[in-house]
Order: sequence, then structure tokens, then C-alpha cells
Amino acid sequence: MLFGRLDFSRSTVLCLVIMKLYILGTGTAIPRIERGSSAYLVTTPGVNVLIDVGPAVVRRLLERGYEVDDVDVLVLTHFHVDHTADLSTFFFACNYGNVTRTKPLTIIGGRGIAGFYRGLQAIYPWVRPKQYGLTVRRLVNNSMKFGGVTITAVPVNHNPESIAVRLDGKRSITFSGDTGHSPNLTRLADRTNVLVAECSFPERKAKGHLNFAALDKIVQKARPKQVVLTHLYPDWDDYRGVLHAPYLLGEDGMEITL
Ligand SMILES: [Zn+2]
Ligand SMILES: [Zn+2]
Repeated sequence: MLFGRLDFSRSTVLCLVIMKLYILGTGTAIPRIERGSSAYLVTTPGVNVLIDVGPAVVRRLLERGYEVDDVDVLVLTHFHVDHTADLSTFFFACNYGNVTRTKPLTIIGGRGIAGFYRGLQAIYPWVRPKQYGLTVRRLVNNSMKFGGVTITAVPVNHNPESIAVRLDGKRSITFSGDTGHSPNLTRLADRTNVLVAECSFPERKAKGHLNFAALDKIVQKARPKQVVLTHLYPDWDDYRGVLHAPYLLGEDGMEITL
């Protein structure tokens, strides 16, 4: 029987799955049962990247079957609490979790990332790595390569340190971070496979954030194949419109295989 001879080993499966995107949270600073703070895990055969680590994101990783030790690179799109509050939990678990971390970890952020990390250490000395190498890197208008994936970051319009990031392997995923209208984001997201875009409000205008019409202008130029809306304020609860392709309203727990 042909099927009996096929070997679906872990490595075979890994070769078939090029990139997997886990939407860990689609919410904001407003505490909600339905939406955790915005965060995303991208797994690839060569490297696993966590984008943002707001409140309860470390626990959200567990729900998807991952631990802090599975993350090789952590990207902070900016320093607002809803994107960074669980960083101390993350570091603490690396030292005192199920496994004491020994493999290297890289943290990437925009302007001021080194000072941000030093500040965290000053408050929580226990976050200092016990048994692993930690690299803290500022990445703005530049790229770094990790295990077959190139990470590129550009500044966007939200906080002085805010960045949007694009991961390019055999496929690509672009994350807007929090931002208002941004030509940099439009260029970064050009023809990307998936754009995970903040779309805080369906209609309301707010400085440093996008509503649907503002995001659509970016999408019309960048032409991503798929757009996942995230960083969703409660305004979306009352939204009665219909979203057409390439748009998808983000939900916590969503998984996209590329
Ligand atoms: Zn935010
Ligand atoms: Zn923010």
C-alpha cells in the first residue's frame, strides 16, 4: 500500500510548511475578554519570531503550544504598554521557567531600544540573562537575517521609536505596528503575502492610528495578497459592514499557513 511507505516525519512536515502566522492577540490598551493585546508569532523552519509582547502574551504562547524558549527573535514595534508589558515576564521565564534558557535571544526595536532594556533591568534586575546570550539591536531603515528570514524595519507614525517590520523568507509577512498614515509602511508592504495591519477604528479618525479608509489607501498602492485587520478598538463590535478580499477581520487564535 503506497500510503504505508510514506514517512511523514517532523522534518517532512517542516519542509512543507514555509511560514506560519499565529495571531496571538488583536486588541488594544482597553482590557477585553475577546481580544488580548496585539501580538503575533511567526514560525519558520529556521527561526521563530515573536512580534510584540503585551499583557498576557507569554501565556498566549502556551495556548498555541509554544514557550518562551521557542522564540529566537523578539521584535518590539514600540514601547507602549499594550505592546511590551509582558517583556519582564518573558525574561523571567527564560531564567526560571520550565527550562532554563541556554540558546541565544535577540531583541529588535526602534530608536531607544537599548535604553528601554536598561530601564527594565533597573526596575527588575532578575530579567538579566542567567545562562543565555542576549543581543539587543536597534533596527531602523535596515535589515538583519536570521535562519533564512530577513527582517526589515522602517519608522512609522505613532511614537518616535515606532517601527513597521517585514519578514521575508520564501513568503513574506509585514506588520504595521501602531501607525497613522505612513508612506514608509506602503513601501515596506509592497506585494507582501500577508499584511497584518493596525486598523484601530472602522471610521473614527485618531492621530497615530488608521481607520479603514486610511488603511485602504495603503493597500491600494502596496497590493498585499491578504490583509489581516488588528489592534481593534470596541468600535468594531458595532461594525455592520462586510469586508471583502483581501481583508480579513483579525480574531485572537487565528492561524495562517503560507
Ligand atoms: Zn497599541
Ligand atoms: Zn501604541
